[in-house]
Amino acid sequence: MENCIFCRIAAGQAPARMLFDDGEVLAFYDIAPRAPVHVLVIPRLHIPSLAHAQANHRELLGTLLLAVQRAARETGVAEAFRVVTNSGAAAGQSVFHLHFHLLGGRTMAWPPG
Ligand code: 5GP
Ligand code: ZN
Repeated sequence: MENCIFCRIAAGQAPARMLFDDGEVLAFYDIAPRAPVHVLVIPRLHIPSLAHAQANHRELLGTLLLAVQRAARETGVAEAFRVVTNSGAAAGQSVFHLHFHLLGGRTMAWPPG
């Protein structure tokens, strides 16, 4: 997906401040952080959103959430963090490559806007 910014980051064709890349899953810092810690966890595989995930992605989805946990540990927020995925433009999705936002380092309000 040559015009997908996250595919371009995964391919090393666009810059990102990388936290880790285990081959299947990458974690990198959001370019416009909404919290002191704001990391995006993505699969290397292009899946447009959670709404597009299929039963054959079951293991990958688990791997992604464990990668969020790893990112929370590695950024020092494992004690309290929020995980968000926006699915669909009306839900706030702006990059149509599945990603989980890891937010931490401040008190979170509920419900989100
Ligand atoms: P969404 O709005 O789809 O839920 O989240 C997309 C996120 O990607 C936003 O928080 C936005 O700041 C971030 N983002 C967009 N383009 C880039 C980029 O080129 N590099 C990085 N590191 N983050 C990006
Ligand atoms: Zn993509």
